[in-house]
Formats: sequence, structure tokens, C-alpha cells
Amino acid sequence: MASATTDRPLHDLLFGRDPGEAVPTHAHARELIANVPHECERLAALLRRADAILVGTGAGWSADSGLATYKDVADVPALRAVDLSYYDLCQTRWLREDPAVYYGFWGYCLSSYRRATPHEGYRIVKKWSEDLCNRTPRFRERFAAAKLSPVFIYSSNVDAHWHRDGLFTEDATFEFHGTCEDWCCSGSEAEGRMSPCCQDIWPVPADFHFVIDEKTMRAESKESAEPNESSASEMPEHGGCPFSLAQKLGNPNRPRCPRCRSLLRPRVLHFGDGKFFEREGERERFERWAECVFDCMTLCSAPLGDGEKDPAKHVLGASAGASSGDIYEDKGAKGGEEAFCLAVLEFGCGLNVPSVRRESERHLDMYPENCVLVRVNPDFPLVLEKEPRQRIEIMAGALEAVRAADALLRGKEPEVPKAKPREPLPKPEAKPRARSGSRAKKG
Ligand SMILES: [Zn+2]
Ligand SMILES: [Zn+2]
Repeated sequence: MASATTDRPLHDLLFGRDPGEAVPTHAHARELIANVPHECERLAALLRRADAILVGTGAGWSADSGLATYKDVADVPALRAVDLSYYDLCQTRWLREDPAVYYGFWGYCLSSYRRATPHEGYRIVKKWSEDLCNRTPRFRERFAAAKLSPVFIYSSNVDAHWHRDGLFTEDATFEFHGTCEDWCCSGSEAEGRMSPCCQDIWPVPADFHFVIDEKTMRAESKESAEPNESSASEMPEHGGCPFSLAQKLGNPNRPRCPRCRSLLRPRVLHFGDGKFFEREGERERFERWAECVFDCMTLCSAPLGDGEKDPAKHVLGASAGASSGDIYEDKGAKGGEEAFCLAVLEFGCGLNVPSVRRESERHLDMYPENCVLVRVNPDFPLVLEKEPRQRIEIMAGALEAVRAADALLRGKEPEVPKAKPREPLPKPEAKPRARSGSRAKKG
């Protein structure tokens, strides 16, 4: 029944979801891979033309720094042995049921993010950002007046690597799933449901780390060192560092809220997490950036929404997206060259957490002729239901695609990214994973 033209590689998504048409068929994948060099050239041409860039990054972007993606983050022997997945571990109930598991896992994440060196792609994107700012005085005053950079990072990654060594400031980033460097009250001491007493944020000091048993992945409490009622008076004034205090009390594995003594949790979005909160002003700043883009679009009378689609007005020329011949050299195009051009670059955003993909598509929907969506993904590069001129689909890893485009921008011969087509896998038995009761297998 399966035919060579409809066969797709299998992908194991969370909650047993079916990625459907987002996965290229084997035949389509071969085509996409052969087309990677051409798509990288289109990306370079887009970068030369862009007036603003939205960079969206997901787990696949961090993976190039050697960090695990969702599928693999809990894939260490000790966690496999207790049969706990990322889904299981990303829940605050552990703080009451077995905090050693919780702090073992999140302490491990924190230290592996800190140990990892952000890959070269971060610096290349920074350079693209500087080039853009130096190149185009057009529309610049709009962003300057709003105290914003025309380049904005929208990321689901919680490793804080965009900020490493001051690469990008908070002004130009929205880490909408939080970061492992920020911790907050979990409300574990509340009566009944866990209920945080405040939305204060405590950064983890650079020299702090949890003490984790490598064999069991547990971060045990030094019970004897738990402060009793009398030493609780040692809790710092509100605003003191709870990590330093925990260290001072000899129990670094149990940092507590200075206000209510609840255990701290990372300000990272968990599953079924009603208590996660964003940094103050983060979302508003991103919305201001989007408003700036909107202002520039209306200034140049960009077509708005699908109803106003008009290939003749495309920002890269009417022949953009043609699969051969000149790339963006259609001098006859009207309006395109003076118009505001938004490049949306999406790297390594998969289907488990599709928020970044939806955000990029939202911009393309709004500005059908003035925005181009670049989707870089070794598995799911397709931008469905869009015209060729509106999309650049690069079936490759994030870093290799960034390097290739950057080499082209600097007039060098790029190394051709070489994604390997996936071999068809044998269909696995449908086997729902038992979630409840998985703890029973522990120790
Ligand atoms: Zn940040
Ligand atoms: Zn509290």
C-alpha cells in the first residue's frame, strides 16, 4: 500500500502526535537536500536585503552546541534506569514527592548549559545584526526612537546562551520559556495546591552548583543541615541570595524562598505549569518591536494579510522563488526595492513545541509580500501552504546553514551542508508509554 511518493520517515513526537505533512516524503527530502546550496544562496540574498530580522530558535539550535534536544535531554543512563522522561521531570510535583529527583535533573541541566560553549552560529548572527544596522539607515530612526534593535531574538531555549559574554542584551531577546539561570518560589510550602508567594527572581550565582550523585542523578538533602526553626532567623532579608544561604547552611541542594521557605524552582516553563511567569516587560518589548515593524510596513504601503497578496509587489522582486536563473535580480519589479523587508529566520524549531513556528508564520501571514520565512530544520523544513517566493526551506542543521550563508555573504566558497536523508524505519509497535506508576520502578 505504501508508495515511494507518499512514504515519510517516522518521527516520535510527544503525546504520540502525528507530524503528518510537516514531514517531507522520502522523495521530497532528497529534492530538498539537493536544493540546500541554492536555498542558502537565497538566504544570503535575503540577508543583504533585510531591513529587520526576527531570529526564532528552538532546541535544534542549541543542539549544535552539543546540548540535548527534548527527545534526548533525559537520555542519561541513571534517568533511563528509573524510566523518567523529560515530560516526567518537567513537573513541579517532584518538589513535594521527591525533591532529590527534581534538583538532580535541573541541577544537571544547569551545569550542562553552563559547561557548553555556544556554537559559532551565535557570533555569526551577531555579525549579521551589526552588518544590518550599519548598512541600512532606512527605517532605522523608527527602531532607534523605540530604543530597539531591528534584529530581535525569539527563543524557546532555556540555556541563556544568547546572553553569554554579553552577545545580545535583554533588550533584543525574548526567551519565552524562561531560563535555567533564573529561579523563583515554587510555593511548595503552601497549604493544599502549590502556590508561589511572589514572582521574585533569583539568579543562580556563577560559582553555585548542585551536588548530584552521578550514578543515581539524585541531589540529596543534607537533612541534618536543614535549618530548624531557630536558624530560620538566618534567612536573609528579602532580596538576599537564597543560593548563597543554602550553601552557607551546608545544604546547597535545597535552596528556599526567603519569604515563605518554599523550595525554589527554575523559571522555566514546565508541563501543565500554571505558575510559570515571564520576566517583567519581556513580552511588551517584543510587542513594541513588532509594532515598529508594522509601522515600517505601513509607511511603505506593504500589502497586509493574505487578501492583499500581489506577487508583483514582492520585496525581493516578482521572480523571487524561481528555482533557476537570477536570484532576486528582477529589476522590473515595482515597489519591492523601496519596501521594508522582514527576514524571519527560524532555526531548529521542531513540532514538539511549535510556538516558534507559529510565531514565524504569523509574521508571514501579516506581510505576505514583505516578509520571507527561512525555515532551517534537518527533519521538518517545510513551510506548508505558502508560495515559493515567501519561503526558504533549508533541510540541514542550523549551524551548517548559517555558516554556508555567511560564507556566501563574504564572497567565499561555502561548504555545502550535507544532511543525510533518513532511511525508512521499520514501523514500531504502537505502545503507549505508561506515565503513572513510572516512579514505582525507582530504586
Ligand atoms: Zn534573557
Ligand atoms: Zn515564596
